[in-house]
Amino acid sequence: MNKKGVLIVISGFSGVGKGTVVKKLVEKHGYSLSVSATTRQPRPGEVDGKDYHFKSVAEFRNLIDYNGFIEWAQYVENYYGTPRQYVEEELEKGNNVILEIEVQGAMRIKEQYPDAVLIFLTAPNAQILKTRLEGRGTEDNKVIAKRLKRAYEETDDMQCYDYLVVNDDLDTCVEHVHAVILAEGFKTAENMEYISNMKEELSRIRKEITV
Ligand code: ADP
Ligand code: 5GP
Repeated sequence: MNKKGVLIVISGFSGVGKGTVVKKLVEKHGYSLSVSATTRQPRPGEVDGKDYHFKSVAEFRNLIDYNGFIEWAQYVENYYGTPRQYVEEELEKGNNVILEIEVQGAMRIKEQYPDAVLIFLTAPNAQILKTRLEGRGTEDNKVIAKRLKRAYEETDDMQCYDYLVVNDDLDTCVEHVHAVILAEGFKTAENMEYISNMKEELSRIRKEITV
């Protein structure tokens, strides 16, 4: 059966642990991960082409003009976008693709790919979220304040997601996200080709039986 892959969108408040969870999902369960383009500056240790495709604003705009993104959005003063080619090729090969993107982008994905699974990652509570964001040590207080303000706004969009998963214990969270994605593949609507093949085979086999 040549099934297309599942498109999985993972969003969540800044600092909730999206990057950490997604990295483990890819390592442990072999998902394909889309590498986004962004105009933000690389953080220490981030590698161009692996963590992001780092672009100038002019390069990013050019990619928009050439329909190079399946979605893009502005988030706290920078642009972020999902390159089209990788996602389309991986889905065609039957691979499950993860997009780690913010909520405006997630809504655009749902419009274009109604079968996409939207998962919102959250923290056990707001204080833990703030502590994680500060603990990462990659943003100054001004940026942290903007990201927490954005997190507050994002609570309005949480109900648009299919699933809400709490990132308390990291390994448990990774398995919960994996379980959600696995369950999606078992939906009967995802298996219509199997059903029609089974019907055909049964039709043949029952005629072979002599009574
Ligand atoms: P995001 O990608 O959502 O902005 P990160 O993956 O960078 O978040 O994680 C933010 C910080 O929280 C990092 O320092 C990371 O090590 C830490 N972290 C992630 N998940 C957990 C967890 N389950 N428990 C404790 N700390 C976590
Ligand atoms: P960060 O700067 O912390 O890496 O990312 C900031 C926000 O942008 C996060 O919520 C992240 O999920 C989101 N993001 C990363 N890549 C993309 C993308 O390609 N499209 C959209 N819409 N959001 C993205």
